[in-house]
Amino acid sequence: MKMINVLGATGSIGTQTVDVVLHHPESFRIVSMSFGNNIEKGRELVRACQPEFVSVAKKKDADLLKLEFPNIQWSYGEEGLLEAAVYDKGNVLVNAVMGSIGLQPTLAAIEVGKTICLANKETLVTAGHLVMEQAKKHNVPIVPVDSEHSAILQALQGENRDRVERLWITASGGSFRDRTRQELEGVTIEDALHHPNWSMGAKITIDSATMMNKGLEVIEARWLFDMPYENISVLLHKESIVHSLVEYVDTSFMAQLGTPDMRAVIQYALSYPDRLPLIGGERLRLEKIATLNFEKMDFDRYPCLHFAFEAGKIGGTCPTVLNAANEVAVEAFLQGAIPFLQIENVIERMLEEHSVLPSPDLETIQHVDKDTRERVRSLLK
Ligand code: NDP
Ligand code: MG
Repeated sequence: MKMINVLGATGSIGTQTVDVVLHHPESFRIVSMSFGNNIEKGRELVRACQPEFVSVAKKKDADLLKLEFPNIQWSYGEEGLLEAAVYDKGNVLVNAVMGSIGLQPTLAAIEVGKTICLANKETLVTAGHLVMEQAKKHNVPIVPVDSEHSAILQALQGENRDRVERLWITASGGSFRDRTRQELEGVTIEDALHHPNWSMGAKITIDSATMMNKGLEVIEARWLFDMPYENISVLLHKESIVHSLVEYVDTSFMAQLGTPDMRAVIQYALSYPDRLPLIGGERLRLEKIATLNFEKMDFDRYPCLHFAFEAGKIGGTCPTVLNAANEVAVEAFLQGAIPFLQIENVIERMLEEHSVLPSPDLETIQHVDKDTRERVRSLLK
């Protein structure tokens, strides 16, 4: 029986995690969870999962919910998020919170020896070296909850890692893949939030439209699979059926295919290395799809992907700046404060102005993260 701590339970990954868990009560149980401000959804999840410990964003909500659910321990804020992550009845953390706020809970859960099922990619982007170092030290597996990395993990099963030539990460192209750069001027928030293949949270949907999501995934892959950037490539694949591929030294490729359903990815992470039936999962019928398309990635069309590769290669505090600038710029776009194309301008400027610090410790990363956010906010004022 896996006892699970879930962060970001009310989100797109969080709710699908709950769905998977409730379909397999013989294998999984949620013992603690966190959510932010979506109290209505949170209440529904608490009723369905009966966790022992719950954390929310605000004290007033925690106080209110305590009256409704007196048998549950309630907490709030960043401290509560941390407590939910390390709540001791759990042995697996599903980190599905959005943003680099997920870093400290991940590190804390590693320290107490929990297996980490990581959706929160910003954690690996902002401090991949620290997370992997800690995981190695405590002998804790970091299992990806991202379709591309799950595909790579599956394509690596039973293989000798030294025989890997290249990782190929596929990209759908996001909401604007059929538009030219000129046509991106003046696109609306609603247009950007309309992803052709996947239904996800707002921030990652915008990241997919700018292609920053793929950039974050390249950095994520570098850390998860200990692969140099030179051996990671991105391939446009508009159907999102081939979730990613591994190329081996003998020219063979191993790919993982499936319908675009994150529940399959979440469930694989929870059952890894075993598999369970996906209740309600649609089966892939290739004869219905008939054609799969692949295209070379155009870095001029998607400058954010280029920034991510560069920031990753430079390393040090560069990926922290990339991530923090992106989080604030995307938030500003979602609030209608800046046009779509300004997201990339902000990130480029922050990277240009940054003096890189090599091998940063946690304190340095937190300082650079905070400083970058403040600088972007004052730039956008
Ligand atoms: P959502 O925006 O749908 O959900 C985010 C969750 O985090 C919500 O439960 C939200 O709470 C909570 N949250 C956000 N900010 C805070 C905060 N400051 N304190 C406490 N809780 C907070 O995001 P997704 O589920 O789409 O994505 C989550 C992570 O998974 C991201 O890192 C994303 O990149 C990654 N991911 C997502 C995929 C997807 O298909 N959605 C695929 C692969 C990776 P509330 O809403 O209650 O305020
Ligand atoms: Mg992905």
